[in-house]
Amino acid sequence: MIIVMKKSAGQAEIDKVIACLKDHGLGANLSVGSQATIIGILGDKSKLGGVDLTLLDGVQECVPIMHSYKLASRDMCPDGRVVQVGGEIIGGNKLAMMAGPCAVESEEQIVQAARGVKAAGAKFLRGGAYKPRTSPYAFQGLEDEGYRLLRMAADETGLKVVSEVVGVDQIDTAAKYCDMFQIGARNMQNFRLLRAVGQSKVPVLLKRGIASTIEEWLDAAEYIMSEGNYNVVLCERGIRTFETATRNTLDIAAVAVVKERSSLPVIIDPSHAAGKRAYIESLSLAGVAAGADGLIIEVHPNPKVAMSDAAQQLTIPEYAQLFQKAAKVAQAVGREI
Ligand code: PEP
Ligand code: MN
Repeated sequence: MIIVMKKSAGQAEIDKVIACLKDHGLGANLSVGSQATIIGILGDKSKLGGVDLTLLDGVQECVPIMHSYKLASRDMCPDGRVVQVGGEIIGGNKLAMMAGPCAVESEEQIVQAARGVKAAGAKFLRGGAYKPRTSPYAFQGLEDEGYRLLRMAADETGLKVVSEVVGVDQIDTAAKYCDMFQIGARNMQNFRLLRAVGQSKVPVLLKRGIASTIEEWLDAAEYIMSEGNYNVVLCERGIRTFETATRNTLDIAAVAVVKERSSLPVIIDPSHAAGKRAYIESLSLAGVAAGADGLIIEVHPNPKVAMSDAAQQLTIPEYAQLFQKAAKVAQAVGREI
């Protein structure tokens, strides 16, 4: 349930409503928006008993939230949330540009990648240290050493680090090296992991599950937010369909649906959707045109020898060219890079 305050309501009235909720063992999520001031009720509203909140001074109306997710819903924060990662903001007018290799492979590889994507204009360095591979015999990542190399390369170039955590036991170490955690598609419904990253308070990039609906994805975001971590960014990375021409099917419509239903920023990963280098640019430009809040793209100094996802990683010059085109599309839709 959300409480919509009257336009004339002052701070004292807002404080009284929040205090009333607190007295009944409930939390409050205050959203002061351009159109309205909204107080979201956190917790089991049956604790209110017979209290009629509409009788409190300054309250215009109480509206139930129809979704199973509340904090992630648009109703709770109609102006949209912005997520701070270090000094970078995701969800404002500016697009978040993230790039880097699928996996961290060596110091030389990640430093070259970091320098290349930084020169092209990226603000975030991606790279897997723990890789969730389909085959147990495939390269599994450099693990903690991968996090350390990422941090070093990012510090040298002034980038923010985004990297995946695949288990609860990695969170403490990963938090020392990463500015943002990635929850991969395969772990989108690993609820213990979601709760644990929620408790960590490190910003989270939550990828959509390979066969998950948008509602399930937003419920997964709610798990993280319900632990007090509101710094969640969604990432559409393609879903499994009958089509085999691409690795997954990029659901561009998900951007529009998420913008309508959720307050969270949403970015596009064209690399894992396409699976092929040749399609990355079109999907990226489509994502920006559709209103995505950023792009995360796999870039490798020498994709031919990449230890994972070789077919979909861009070279540094290819990324630099894509970046320039994305900037033009961004400008056309009133955004900047
Ligand atoms: C990745 O980003 O490296 C990755 C494994 O992505 P996904 O979880 O979307 O497959
Ligand atoms: Mn990959």
